[in-house]
Amino acid sequence: MRIGAQLKHTVIPLSLMLLCPPFAMLMAYTGTQLHGSFAGLLSFLKEEGFLKGVWHIWSPVFFGTKSAWLIIGTFALTQLLFIKLLRGPRNEGPETATGFIPVYKANGRASFFLTVALYWLFSFKLKWFSPAILYDHFVEIIGALNFTVLVFCLVLYFKGRFFPSSNDTVVTGNFIYDYWRGTELYPSVCGWNVKHFTNSRFGMMAWLLIIISFAAKQDELHGITDGMFISLALQVWYISQFFWWETGYFRTMDIQHDRAGFIIIWGTMVWVPAIYTSPSLYLVHHPLTLGWVPAGIIFIIGAFSILAKNLSNRQRLRVRETNGNTAVWGKPPRIIRAKYVNSKGEQKENILLASGYWGVARHFHYAGEILGALCWSIPALFSGFYPYFYVTYLTILLVHRVNRDDRKCSLKYGIYWDEYRKLVPWKILPGVY
Ligand code: NDP
Repeated sequence: MRIGAQLKHTVIPLSLMLLCPPFAMLMAYTGTQLHGSFAGLLSFLKEEGFLKGVWHIWSPVFFGTKSAWLIIGTFALTQLLFIKLLRGPRNEGPETATGFIPVYKANGRASFFLTVALYWLFSFKLKWFSPAILYDHFVEIIGALNFTVLVFCLVLYFKGRFFPSSNDTVVTGNFIYDYWRGTELYPSVCGWNVKHFTNSRFGMMAWLLIIISFAAKQDELHGITDGMFISLALQVWYISQFFWWETGYFRTMDIQHDRAGFIIIWGTMVWVPAIYTSPSLYLVHHPLTLGWVPAGIIFIIGAFSILAKNLSNRQRLRVRETNGNTAVWGKPPRIIRAKYVNSKGEQKENILLASGYWGVARHFHYAGEILGALCWSIPALFSGFYPYFYVTYLTILLVHRVNRDDRKCSLKYGIYWDEYRKLVPWKILPGVY
């Protein structure tokens, strides 16, 4: 039991925190310098020696470069200003166990459009910088982000310990675990909700601009291919949907459950820009052509998968918001009124939806998420593993997440969750998992 706890709270977090930052660097380096060849990377590391090889790649950009800092600084400042200055209705997130209600300004759509418009204006139109700028400085950017965000997580750890923004703070006393999981659920700095900025406005918006820049680079080198075009279009569709319903994101596990530590903060500010963009990065140097008919079919399947995922998220939120007084796929919803006790000992109730998407499987939306990602990776035509790393990782992540959520809900709702499990036995896809 003690060994199990040590593993879970110290050994695994420490190993992952030591492995992931260099891995993000290697992915950026492999994508840009070795054209996505893991074989090339392995032979380089074999020749140099593993640690020396990693250091050789990482050390020139360990603290970033002037250009990388300028790019990141301008981008971060713009996004921070957008959160504060753009108009949007007040949105209240779900109440926490201690009774705290996070408040947001719902201006995600305006930020999305304005970010794309400004990038287009200053690069494509006014030519102040090349639209491929993020490709040209990619390794430096990931280097700078790695360093800054690791330090930022340390600042957040101490902030949670000594200046918490709300009572939803957990300090176990195990520094490694607290740094890894974070101490605060809703840290805020100068009125900015930290996770709103890091997860949504930084991570998701960086993903958007980076893949636009990668497409511009392919265009500059080879002319844009139909494969790059649909891969970009699907990802832009995915990200635009995210910002269209950004308020729904405030009700997901990332925000409601995960504290602001390495997993979430480093994950969204470094892992997302370095790894989620890798299918597009691969295509920069692999201008493969699909033909417009196959490309169109892949696009349609991907677009519907992403749409289904979003409709599913919205369906459960709508049923809760209307207290079940709404139609689900044209019929009254099948619901369970699940009772639970919060940390203050108060009796509460939540609706569990057991029809519509939530009647097909308990996390059917994860199937849409995975299929969408597969569709925007297919244009690499299985010519290497690099462009499929993301969808493989995503599948493992979501299978793990389903079980994590199952445990969380089982603890929270007890017999009501058992009842839901009986009604909806499949986890992600009926007949498969
Ligand atoms: P989910 O949207 O799956 O929400 C899980 C929560 O919903 C549960 O903890 C529970 O919360 C509530 N819930 C569970 N079952 C029901 C039900 N039957 N009816 C009503 N409410 C229910 O959370 P995620 O954060 O995992 O996913 C959010 C989105 O983000 C998804 O679209 C997912 O695909 C995407 N995602 C993307 C990732 C990526 O890296 N690309 C990674 C992870 C997620 P409560 O306590 O409120 O009852």
